[in-house]
Amino acid sequence: MGSICPMGSAVCGRGFSLVGVAWGDWREMKIWRGLAVAGLVMGLGVVAAVRVEAQRLPGGVRPEHYSLVITPDLKSATFAGSETIDVLLDSPATAITLNAAEIEFESVKAMVGDFTPQFQTAVVTLDAAKEQATFTFARELPAGRVLLMIEYRGILNDKLRGFYLSKTKLRRYGVTQFEATDARRAFPCFDEPALKAAFDVALVMDAGDTAISNTKIVSDQPGPVAGKHTVAFATTPRMSTYLVAWLVGDFKCSAGKADGVPVRACATPDKVKLTRFALDSAKQTLRDYDRYFGIKYPLAKLDLVAVPDFEAGAMENFGCITFRETELLVAKKDGALAAKKEVAETVAHEMAHQWFGDLVTPVWWDNLWLNEGFATWMETKEAAKEHPKWRFDEDAALDKERTMDADAGRTTRPIRARAETPDEINESFDVIAYGKAGAVIGMVENWVGEETFRKGVQAYLAAHLYGNATAEDFWNAQARVSGLPVDKVMRGFVEQPGVPLVTLTSGGAGAPVTQRRFFLSAAAPNTKEAWTVPLCFKAASCRLLTPGATTLDLPVPVPLGMVSPELQFVYADAGDKGYYRTDYSPGQLKAIVANAETTLTPPERIGLLGDRWALMRAGEGSVGEILDLALAVKQDPNAAVLESALGKIGAIGTQIATDDDRKRLDGVVRREFGGVYAGLGKGGRHEREGRAELRETLFEALGRAGDPAVLAEAANQTKDLFAGQKPADATVAMVAAKGDAAMYEKMLRVAQTATDPDLKQDALHTLTRFQSPELVARTLEYALSDKVRSQDSWTLIARLLERRETQDQAWAFVQQHWAEIARRQTESSGARIVAAAAAFCTVERRDEVAGFFAAHPVASTQRTLAKSIDSINDCIHLRAVHEPELRQWLDAHAGKKSATGLPGD
Ligand SMILES: [Zn+2]
Repeated sequence: MGSICPMGSAVCGRGFSLVGVAWGDWREMKIWRGLAVAGLVMGLGVVAAVRVEAQRLPGGVRPEHYSLVITPDLKSATFAGSETIDVLLDSPATAITLNAAEIEFESVKAMVGDFTPQFQTAVVTLDAAKEQATFTFARELPAGRVLLMIEYRGILNDKLRGFYLSKTKLRRYGVTQFEATDARRAFPCFDEPALKAAFDVALVMDAGDTAISNTKIVSDQPGPVAGKHTVAFATTPRMSTYLVAWLVGDFKCSAGKADGVPVRACATPDKVKLTRFALDSAKQTLRDYDRYFGIKYPLAKLDLVAVPDFEAGAMENFGCITFRETELLVAKKDGALAAKKEVAETVAHEMAHQWFGDLVTPVWWDNLWLNEGFATWMETKEAAKEHPKWRFDEDAALDKERTMDADAGRTTRPIRARAETPDEINESFDVIAYGKAGAVIGMVENWVGEETFRKGVQAYLAAHLYGNATAEDFWNAQARVSGLPVDKVMRGFVEQPGVPLVTLTSGGAGAPVTQRRFFLSAAAPNTKEAWTVPLCFKAASCRLLTPGATTLDLPVPVPLGMVSPELQFVYADAGDKGYYRTDYSPGQLKAIVANAETTLTPPERIGLLGDRWALMRAGEGSVGEILDLALAVKQDPNAAVLESALGKIGAIGTQIATDDDRKRLDGVVRREFGGVYAGLGKGGRHEREGRAELRETLFEALGRAGDPAVLAEAANQTKDLFAGQKPADATVAMVAAKGDAAMYEKMLRVAQTATDPDLKQDALHTLTRFQSPELVARTLEYALSDKVRSQDSWTLIARLLERRETQDQAWAFVQQHWAEIARRQTESSGARIVAAAAAFCTVERRDEVAGFFAAHPVASTQRTLAKSIDSINDCIHLRAVHEPELRQWLDAHAGKKSATGLPGD
């Protein structure tokens, strides 16, 4: 599945946000099942591991083909299903067990014998907890082919999963979302990824309605009753149940062709005008992927459909990809760059799944990373070549920082981990399966070489077409093709939790090297993990660090340019492609910092800042060192680097500073960065590339720091906000923070009436920026009203919980209104709120959070809650250790009074 937050966005992720958003919106749907940075609890007893019994099917039955005739009744929100399943029995049986949830069986029969068919009626028993149904027959069914004939009824639910209802002001739609374990809500089935079969789908609907499914329409006949027609789709190739999809309504499409394949981008009729950009992206991507994979897109058509109510960012159903509207729809001509990047990325992500996931599918959900890691790594690969100005490498660097920080908690998990029950499976759609797996794949590609890696991918896919595969299949194929121990490298990163910390003290032959597992906390446990790490050096080749090695032949420090000998250095993460933290001797570090602006690339500078920040949080280095480093790059010509530096300062303000110290820190930001901002001038159409982004980054930071000139300018820019003008979101947010009821009222109107999905979402999110208690209360009430779609309601609450200024009020509200929140919960929403609680930083709140969610447990959040508690503990510790030290630094740096009387100006 896919994301909804732009990578590298300024409002994404704890510790990197200028705006103090913890966890924030980073990939808020990509890790949609709750931002569960999840996993093993390292001996701290935070979570008592409660294991639900495994819920796999008993086996012995292999489905070959399903035929489905589905008759939805959108008005009554129900549907009828008529289904046949061809199965092969491995041995004679009197019972067949498959998956079904919220399904009411009307009749179940089995037919055996081709020439003299014999029929038997089954007795159906349901196991609601296991989401299974068992058909029991009086006479034993023989081994071999059996045809199951099932008549049943189901409900079109409002929980955004299975076969569910989506509404606009004008009408209702019937749409599906089956990953991971919800196909069983739409049709009784063997709902496991390895039990692939072919599908024939037919939909019976009102005469005026249309339908879209995985394959092309092969017939459209009036009937079976007056006023209805029946649309039948071509037989699918062998595929997993979670990739089946159908949509009923009045969707309209723009259409094109790529490599001979018809491609369409579809939406509700009022929004079809916003589909052209996605269509063009999809066409280009299909051509790119045909070439990259060496295997042509396997279906006879590809549809991309924007759905009004949609929980994830997008879903890679084979040949019929579904999207949240904001992920597919953007004005081709004047859409914002960030929105276009987001659409292009999501389209590329889901299309990568057509090969990685749909054509070749993991045997089981524990290897979900084979789907999501690969699609994450691939989502910017081709677009980065076509749009170098989009700077995906910098987004990737910012993204990797967030991922490694999450993975350096005590409560992380290995990439491949147990996922047996639907709850466990849902919780595994997390930053580890997406971000970490994607980064590890990128590291391996960088090490073995792009072309060699591509050949390994092709070999892997070709060996498993229309079948299933495991992690071993992938890394063995890569090892075979490259002749390098890819299996050892990947096994270490896939099977062990956490991030390696590699320490180097010098260069040259036999240089001392150590590695250990890195924890983002000074109170880190001792653990035994050790990795085979490809260390790739700047201006030199890669070296393989093996577990237990204490020395390594490193490159000799190379004098770069005119630097003096003591400033010669080795830098161990060339291109910022490695999935590890690096520490150096003080002398080496000094040399690296001295050369950072002239020698390191922007992603490397982001990596350097990230390493130092992480090491400080782990107890090495001071908060003053981080602030000095952040100020040292203040003239950096690159917005992403500046964003990273300002993000560290912002995080110090949010997580370490007292209210008074925060004001003084704001003063330092105004003093140090105000001049840089002023130096950029007003800008214009012909200015140097990247300058506008720099200005925007600084403008936002200065506004947050209360710079009066910037705030006045922001107020000026938003004067005509509601008269069609569209200033930057950060500007609007800045003004909204001090906004009054009149402005709120107008913003609310935009949120309710805008037809452009991006504008609507921006307005909705801006409501969470207003800080006056009455307006915060209004936003919270509004979030629970029926005016907000379920998919958005929890976002509003989570955003308010994540900001220091509003979190106490939001938390009180959550506790008081839990019954309502729980009632409106979709699969991910409760988890999102549990994850947002990670933003607290006091013992009192920690205990409240732990106590509250123990008393009000939320499904699929066991690891998420442990992680939130872990984060709060880390923040408490961080504050205790560094608050006095921050004060000392501020005493030395923020004391000067300025002409305006504002401290630090
Ligand atoms: Zn995905």
